[in-house]
Amino acid sequence: MIKKPYLLSPGPTPVPPEVRQVAALPLIHHRGPEFSSIFREVTEGLKHIFQTEQDVLTLTSSGSGAMEAAVVNILAPGDKVLVLNAGKFGDRWGKICRAYAVDVQEIKVPWGADIPKEDLSEQLAAHPDARAVFCTLSETSTGTVYDIEGFARVTAATDALLVVDGISGLGAMPCPMDDWGLDVLISGSQKSFMTPPGLAFIAFSPEAWRHVESSRLPRFYFDALAARKGLQKQTSAWTPAISLIRQLHKALEIMQNIGLEGLFSHHRVMAEATRAGIHALGLELLSENPGTILTAVKTPAGLDGNRLVKIMQERYQVHIAGAQDPHKGKFFRIGHLGFTGGFDIITALTALEMTLGDLGYAHKRGDSIRAAQAIIKENWQ
Ligand SMILES: *Cc1c(COP(=O)(O)O)cnc(C)c1O
Repeated sequence: MIKKPYLLSPGPTPVPPEVRQVAALPLIHHRGPEFSSIFREVTEGLKHIFQTEQDVLTLTSSGSGAMEAAVVNILAPGDKVLVLNAGKFGDRWGKICRAYAVDVQEIKVPWGADIPKEDLSEQLAAHPDARAVFCTLSETSTGTVYDIEGFARVTAATDALLVVDGISGLGAMPCPMDDWGLDVLISGSQKSFMTPPGLAFIAFSPEAWRHVESSRLPRFYFDALAARKGLQKQTSAWTPAISLIRQLHKALEIMQNIGLEGLFSHHRVMAEATRAGIHALGLELLSENPGTILTAVKTPAGLDGNRLVKIMQERYQVHIAGAQDPHKGKFFRIGHLGFTGGFDIITALTALEMTLGDLGYAHKRGDSIRAAQAIIKENWQ
């Protein structure tokens, strides 16, 4: 049998054919007018997705590079910060800060749990000297989304800057940087931006820029002042990932044609269809407050989640994601962000049903497909 591979991981995500083709174009030089014009349009396109008037800087790195850039550009050694840790990526904020000798206080909750903004208020009252709060829009390790707008209202009443990891959420769910008053917002190319991995984005509010100008943590490659200087000349500080930027240019055009509202409602339908299928199989979600980016599903009792993911991938060529340490095997994650359509959801659910069958989990074949199909059909336009 011909086995076609399908990618339904929450990052990297599938890349549309028009975006893939751009990678094959002859290379252009990054200090010439053709690149400058593309770079200018990419920056404008990113500003539209970030919903900000501020510059959005494009860095050559995966998303974690922008996380590191956020830390090194606004803090000084010994500064105290508050990290909201509800999973792998919240935890990473703490790790990066500690690597730079920043004093980290954490609000740590179990994976999948919500963090009410009142908890942040309380902790900020207990640590009035906190210079920044680090949080995550969509915690990709659990599929949970957080009340960034509420957090921003809390930090607005204090001196602390609010730094938001929007790596998987931005472009798929609302997170208007200027309207919500976010100080630093970051994202990456390989999640909802329909582009291969290798680019990261970061924007600073006017207040955050003042911190950038006076921050004293060591930095060189990720110096936002160097990136801003480059941008003023319509180019980047260092040799950029030229081909990836051209691919992003095409992807942003596709995203703009769909429009922000269109992107948000598309992701809502994908999430709803996936969850209707999951519930029809008698399975449960991990998250207390699941977003529309991915669906984390608890492994049914008696089954091994790692094995489930492995069978889906190796036998059926449908690539979803397992749970990361320290929850390996306890749940699995189906990504439905970026260039993922209704028929991809049907494919994922079919492969899941076949895998559950292989593992001896009792269910009625086709139940999840019927449930998901009804939602996709209802919203087809
Ligand atoms: C993917 C992801 C990251 C890490 O990005 P890399 O591109 O793997 O460095 C950080 N935060 C969130 C929320 C993510 O989804």
